[in-house]
Amino acid sequence: MTSEQRRPFVGGNWKMNGDRAQGTELARAVASEVGQLTDAVDVAVFPAFPYLSGVGGALADSGVMLGSQDVYHQPDGAFTGEVSVAMLADCGARAVLAGHSERRHVIGEDDRTVNKKAAATVAGGMISVLCVGESLGQREAGETDRVNERQTRLGLGGISPEDLQRVVIAYEPVWAIGTGKTATPEDAQDAHAKIRAVVADLYGEGPASAIRIIYGGSMKPANAEALMAMPDIDGGLIGGASLEAADFGTIVRAGAAVAR
Ligand code: PEP
Repeated sequence: MTSEQRRPFVGGNWKMNGDRAQGTELARAVASEVGQLTDAVDVAVFPAFPYLSGVGGALADSGVMLGSQDVYHQPDGAFTGEVSVAMLADCGARAVLAGHSERRHVIGEDDRTVNKKAAATVAGGMISVLCVGESLGQREAGETDRVNERQTRLGLGGISPEDLQRVVIAYEPVWAIGTGKTATPEDAQDAHAKIRAVVADLYGEGPASAIRIIYGGSMKPANAEALMAMPDIDGGLIGGASLEAADFGTIVRAGAAVAR
């Protein structure tokens, strides 16, 4: 499968920003900006837990997917403060992030925890956006490929080939997230191709060529098309620029343009 055959995926990670009214308004604006493009591009927004239902209501009938920034892997029980896959689905969510760098490096989640979240998400029929990526120190130490390989192998551990169809991998170099620094299209392409090779080693060429690998790290309207034009870059995970519907819309249009 070539990049033209893989349907682009563009996600907006709203992080811990905004309030209920702003989230609903932003969701309405995103729906009107990109609603028609969802024929060609998978588009998702990831608001904070308390606003899932409100944002989901504002997205109704738009084709924009509702996503969650986190999940707990257990189905139910005495896990105070946690939220299950089924609860998220009940709120209308269809995608969940796993292993975002802020969860790995600020909250302290390890590869095992990330794997449990990704596996539970796809087993529950939802899309898992599995985030991997090296820190600045790891890049400077020449460890980029090793880190991406480890996070990809461990993140996908135990996930069946069938469930893999619901995994999207996001390559997000930590040093590029929220910093305004972006990987060059060539550097990002190199990392994506190597991550795809790891998936090929685990699952074979067919699943590796079908899986979507998206880039995250200061993707903006000005650089989105050049990044997404690379053969192994199948969309983007967007933080800051997803909080402006017009900017997010421009990025989704870039995804639609390269898909043609
Ligand atoms: C992110 O949060 O996944 C992200 C890529 O953020 P930003 O676009 O702000 O760098």
